[in-house]
Parts: sequence; C-alpha cells; structure tokens
Amino acid sequence: MPFQQPPLPYPMDALTPYLSEEQLRFHYGKHHAAYFKNLNALVEGKPEAAMTLREVVIRSTGPVFNNAGQAWNHTFYWNCMDPKGGGEPTGELAEAIRRDFGSFAEFQKAFSDAAVKLFGSGWAWLAADKDGKLSIMSLSNADTPLKHEKEPILTIDVWEHAYYIDYRNERARFVEGFWKYVHWPFAAKRYALRGQVDQLD
Ligand code: MN
Repeated sequence: MPFQQPPLPYPMDALTPYLSEEQLRFHYGKHHAAYFKNLNALVEGKPEAAMTLREVVIRSTGPVFNNAGQAWNHTFYWNCMDPKGGGEPTGELAEAIRRDFGSFAEFQKAFSDAAVKLFGSGWAWLAADKDGKLSIMSLSNADTPLKHEKEPILTIDVWEHAYYIDYRNERARFVEGFWKYVHWPFAAKRYALRGQVDQLD
C-alpha cells in the first residue's frame, strides 16, 4: 500500500474528557482509516501511487483528491491537539498572530467563529502565505490551504463525525473545548518551516 495511516500521536483516551475514547476510535479508526483505504484502492497502478501524499493533495482532483485531502487533513489535525496542550503560542508565531489579527484573543474569536459558522462539512484553518502572513480559512469537505498555495498552520475538523458522539449537535461546545488541548508547539514548528516543503509532510 503506497499510503499508510500514521499512528495517532497519543493514546485513544488521552484527550478525555474533551474527546472520548469512543469518539477517537470512530474518528481515527473508522473515518480516517477509510480515507487511506479508499485512496490506496483509487491510485493502484496509477502515477499518484509514486507521489508523496502532499503531492497527491496538491495535484489531484475528484475522488482521489477527496480521499487524499482527508487522509492528509486528519493526520495534521491529530497533531494540532495534545493531552498537555492549551495556552497561547510563543515566539515568531505569537508575534505574527498579533501582527495579523491584532491580538491572540481576536485571532481565537475569529478562528472559533469560522469553525462554528462553517456551513455543512469542512475544516477551519489558520494558514500562512509565502510571506508568512496569516489568515483564517473556512474550507468545505476535503479542501485545504495546500490547494490555495498556503501552508496549513492549525486546523479543527468540523465535520459532524468529528464531534457527534460526544457533543451531538453542539458544535460550538466542541470548538470551545479545542482551546484546552490545542498543540501550539506543533503549529509554531509548521510556521517556522513554511516554504521548506522538503521538511514538511
Ligand atoms: Mn474527520
């Protein structure tokens, strides 16, 4: 199989009480796993099978893109949370957030709003352009900043499957809880490495 689902970066129960073990078992073990399975079946014997997942995301369309995008997005999303997460970023990313949003609080409100208000299925993103300027993107389905020549820095999955076991229809409560587990060191690393594509998966 050309594309392998990476291990979850923490145990299935590590994000309780924010996300239950059952929620992660379905989300990582069923939904995310299925995108890899479908992608591998779709690219069998095709040129995409020899590309990196990032290249497939950037270059493909249709069902191959949908599954590759979702495979890549979820791996990124798991890394955006950590059992010891929360707080605020430091260093270069913190300064860029202040520069581009006014304050950390204004950024946080804009990101939460994008996540809560996104219509239907999709992802809210913090993304950087090639000059390091940050923006928030609300993207539907499997869409990702990689398709818009921007580098993903942070994301939250707001497909219903991401929260329905634990939160039912209460997406706003799911988004609020994200901030206690957000993994700023990961986002800061992605921001520092932007533009160095050979360093990024
Ligand atoms: Mn998902």
